[in-house]
Amino acid sequence: MDFSTLVELDRRCVAQTYSRLPVALVEGRGALVRDIHGKEYIDCIAGIAVLNVGHSHPRVLRALQEQASKLMHVSNLYYIPPQVELAEKLCELTGGYRSFFCNSGTEAVEAAIKLVRKHSRKREIIAARNSFHGRTLGSLSATGQEKYRTAFKPLVPGFKHVEYGNIEALRKAITKDTAAVILEPIQGEGGVIIPPEDYFKEVRELCDARDVLLVLDEVQTGIARTGTLFAWQGLGIEPDVFTLAKALGAGFPIGAMLAKPEVMDSFSPGDHASTFGGNPLACAVAKVVLEIVEEERLAQRARELGEYFMEKLGQLQREHEVIKEVRGRGLLIGVELSIPCAEIVKKGLEHGLLLNCTHERVLRFAPPLVITKEQIDQVCSRLGGILKGVPE
Ligand SMILES: *Cc1c(COP(=O)(O)O)cnc(C)c1O
Repeated sequence: MDFSTLVELDRRCVAQTYSRLPVALVEGRGALVRDIHGKEYIDCIAGIAVLNVGHSHPRVLRALQEQASKLMHVSNLYYIPPQVELAEKLCELTGGYRSFFCNSGTEAVEAAIKLVRKHSRKREIIAARNSFHGRTLGSLSATGQEKYRTAFKPLVPGFKHVEYGNIEALRKAITKDTAAVILEPIQGEGGVIIPPEDYFKEVRELCDARDVLLVLDEVQTGIARTGTLFAWQGLGIEPDVFTLAKALGAGFPIGAMLAKPEVMDSFSPGDHASTFGGNPLACAVAKVVLEIVEEERLAQRARELGEYFMEKLGQLQREHEVIKEVRGRGLLIGVELSIPCAEIVKKGLEHGLLLNCTHERVLRFAPPLVITKEQIDQVCSRLGGILKGVPE
């Protein structure tokens, strides 16, 4: 199918919920992707923090093929060996958390909302302004951005929003009926916002003192993205509950809600379920993803390459006034501009870069963690070229 037919058919047959860039990607390897015309791009967004192990990792392919040829799906009416193996792996890596498996980030957050309400027998959940937790009604009720919410009210009752990074605001918002606080370790979709250094330690102490559960939404920060397997491991605290999705399946849909055993124990048979959740194929792939992350030391790689990338972006900042700030942790990096970044993303395509613009003025970099130094050099030199042509 040629490109113009594709665009025409998309308009005619697909729900128009996405504003798409004029490109159709058809293959990828590592941090490189190729479009329908054969043009190559360096992928700086990795399917929005999904392809942490890179596109088409050979071991992921092998796991998919092997499991698919044996058994793709059975119901949770039965024991599912790959599901138990994945949960065991996560249990080991977290020091004892138990897993509930689903198929996406928003479902992982929904599961967390149900769990904290049942466990605490309290109703209220406090989230942050500018947060992103997903698009289904429960997660959307946690999401702290009006633009996503307005058209879909009434939302789920019981949600409050406070300023992100402000411990006093959180302290004031907690009441006797507060079940949980839900926060992203870094606000990804909200523009790569990093809270003050001690924020999460203070949040943890506050939650302990007031008997409130702490839920971390690690859908974007999880799986080595920020330099540790889970961002909370780099914060020096443990959440009661946390969510994973995006990179867990390296492109195969899977989500997970993990909780400390004493919290997860509040779920009884029948409380929550998912037809596809934890199916053999998804779990076989996710287990291999976790093995790759360990064997290829991708957390450390994210730390080292993140530093390298930020340094090079800092150089660009000194040369280009449009760059207001460079911030990030590991390979989740935001470059805040003084102008909207949609044009720059379009120019990126011409220069062989898949860039992403979030929150209108923030270029969000979340490349595959297997990206090479040479590729990062290329990204920075091409971005420099693009910024030269931009009126300041
Ligand atoms: C992407 C994202 C979600 C939603 O995940 P979906 O798989 O799109 O439902 C939830 N929380 C965070 C922090 C995210 O980045």
